[in-house]
Amino acid sequence: MRAVLARAPAPPDADQLRELRIVLLADAKDHGAEEHDYPLWQQRWRVLLGGSQGSDASTPLNLYGPPAVPGLDDRSGAPRLKVETAWHWPSRQQWESADAVVAFCYLPWNEARFQEVAAYLARGGGLVLVHSATWTMPGPSERVAALTGVGGFTRYRHGPVELEIATDHPLGLGLPPRLSFLDETYWPPTPAEHAARIQVLASSKESLGSTPDRGAPQPVFWLCEPDPGRVFGCVLGHYTWTFDDPYFRLLLLRGIAWSARESPYRLDALALPGARANGVINAGVWSGRRTPRAPCNPLPRPPSAPHRGRSRTAG
Ligand SMILES: [Zn+2]
Repeated sequence: MRAVLARAPAPPDADQLRELRIVLLADAKDHGAEEHDYPLWQQRWRVLLGGSQGSDASTPLNLYGPPAVPGLDDRSGAPRLKVETAWHWPSRQQWESADAVVAFCYLPWNEARFQEVAAYLARGGGLVLVHSATWTMPGPSERVAALTGVGGFTRYRHGPVELEIATDHPLGLGLPPRLSFLDETYWPPTPAEHAARIQVLASSKESLGSTPDRGAPQPVFWLCEPDPGRVFGCVLGHYTWTFDDPYFRLLLLRGIAWSARESPYRLDALALPGARANGVINAGVWSGRRTPRAPCNPLPRPPSAPHRGRSRTAG
């Protein structure tokens, strides 16, 4: 991982950096243990990005398992970064002042919020959508696609994910051409006609038929530029351990920095603090006191089963 980081341009001195305002948007947890843990992510990534202050001094930087070993848990955060949190939906003041809004929860779209996000992107704001935030409720939306490039998805699957990385893209600089995760994919981008507007940074082959097959590449990390705003999408993030994977972190951190119209490598150093840099989480065989349970369901589930009363919520 350090070799990957060494491929990126060194960041300028902190006093030459523009101050960035990043809003981390979360909501109430809506799945079981180690799944969709928006509050935990918000708490931990506020410290990872913004650094610890006072009562945060002992907040772990990883989401899954016991805290990382001492020496790999630098809590100083990134220089010149102001991190705020939002619950359910950012405030008007946050939409007006943020450089990037990072959303990890289902987004409660309505007419006023479509207009708020449109105005935010029109002034050059960055919007980062993580997992549930890419799955539009109650179903794929033309309005969301017009704003973000992807209006939602119709299929999902839990289990091993083999990503193919666009290593010739600036955000894929130095990364290996393939990465493995144990998480959940959504596909295909719906409605399809907007997919031509996105750049795919990483894809996974997923079946579009009724029986398993080799499938077709589907976007898992993507970029969209509804000029002058920038949108970065990240389908992974179902399980807590994915946020501790240094490669996942690097892809997401580069998306956050890019969306804020900064060097995509500005936050690279945060890929390591608290991460499980040995990669075993990827394989789902972490040998600590707890072991990631098997994917809760490797096949598409009926929409009514695990959805806690919400229609068409992905698993
Ligand atoms: Zn999920």
